[in-house]
Order: sequence, then structure tokens, then C-alpha cells
Amino acid sequence: MTNKQANILFMSKQEQLQKLNDQMAKCSDCVLRSGCKNVVPGEGSADADILFIGEGPGQKEDELGRPFVGAAGKFLDEMLGVINLKREDVYPPTKIDKDKSSGGKHKPDPKNNNFGGGVYIANIVKCRPPGNRDPLPEEAAACWPWLMEQIKIIDPKLIVTLGRHSMERFLPGYKISEIHGKAMRRDVPEMGKRIFYALYHPAAALYNGSMREVLIKDFKKIPKLVEKIKSEER
Ligand code: URA
Repeated sequence: MTNKQANILFMSKQEQLQKLNDQMAKCSDCVLRSGCKNVVPGEGSADADILFIGEGPGQKEDELGRPFVGAAGKFLDEMLGVINLKREDVYPPTKIDKDKSSGGKHKPDPKNNNFGGGVYIANIVKCRPPGNRDPLPEEAAACWPWLMEQIKIIDPKLIVTLGRHSMERFLPGYKISEIHGKAMRRDVPEMGKRIFYALYHPAAALYNGSMREVLIKDFKKIPKLVEKIKSEER
């Protein structure tokens, strides 16, 4: 075993994520970094059962260095609330838990849901594409290794893709209109067998009443799904 491997063995997941975030902050592997204010690595519990993956930071996210903090983020928070979760649900406490916004108080209540580990929210690209355009394939490819490392460290039970672009990275060839709200097991070379659950993007559903209803309905299926995945592991 190399010294590096031995060091990683002795680091908590939270420390590994922090180290990764520090490395991401120095990344300039694509052009996006030169046009954004902050790298937005993601936030949440290092032990999350559920990993939400959006497309990329928007203006507000870029300003604050945090994912999903604009209008779409408010809707995401609302939907998390519907299944008894808060993005501040972190275990063990991480940086955001100490943040004043959560008062460092909120912890997941295992009696209220099945997600003792909380949630993590990340994006396909960590830097804001100019003018909120879609990330280009080469930008998503440059950012891919960061996401793979996040997945390896967090090792979530369920990966929830938010929007078509996020879905396409993991489930190419599918239509979101056909697979939203359905769990799919897939072997992804860099990260082994994983269970994916595609959802419409909260931003797309914001001003579209019927899509909004579909999204909430799909969201409500998550607790049972996680419970099932966990029971099959036992
Ligand atoms: N949309 C995304 O896909 N990600 C964010 O962080 C914010 C909006």
C-alpha cells in the first residue's frame, strides 16, 4: 500500500470531500473556470443515502459558491420538505452544518425518514457556464472525474439526476419523458453498479403546472425506494 492510499484510509469521508473540494477550487481543466466567480463543488452529508445531481451552477450559485440556491433551489428545498428532509440534514456535521443558516442544529431524525445519512447536492459541472447556457460535452467531460470521486467517497444508495442533461451523462439513449420516476440499475465503468432515478429539473417544472405535479409525485416515491434498496442490501 502506498503512503497516499494509507492516508486516505485514515481520513473520514468528510475529510476526503473537503480535500477534494480544495483540489476542485484550483481546477482549470476547462474554460468555465476563467468565467466564473466560484467553483461550486456541492454540499450536504458525506454519508448521504441520496445524491442529487443537477446540471451546473447558475448566477446565484456562482455568487454564493453553493448549489441550488436560486428559484429552482427553493423548489428543490420544498420537495425535500415533502419527504421530510432538509438539505442541512447532515451526518456527521459538515461545513454547512456549522453555517448560521442551519444554526448548526438540524440533524436528520431517523424516526421521521429512512435517510439517517442525509442528502448531498452536486452538479455535473462545478463552474457556471456563461449566460446559463448548457454545459458543452467537453466541459462535462473535464468535470467528470470530480463527480466520480464524489460518488466514490459518498457512496450513496441512490443517485437522483435532475434534468435531461444530468440524466444523459449516466443513462445515455433514454428519454426523460419515458424514464422519470423509475429506478434503473446501471453499471458505470468508473463507479460500478449504481441505482439511478431520473427526475425532471426543478427549474423546468417551476412554471409548468403539470410538470410540477409529476415532479412532486416522483419525488414522493423516493423514501420507499431508498427503504427497498436498503432492505435488499441487508
Ligand atoms: N441548476 C442546476 O442544475 N444546478 C444548480 O446548482 C442550480 C440550478
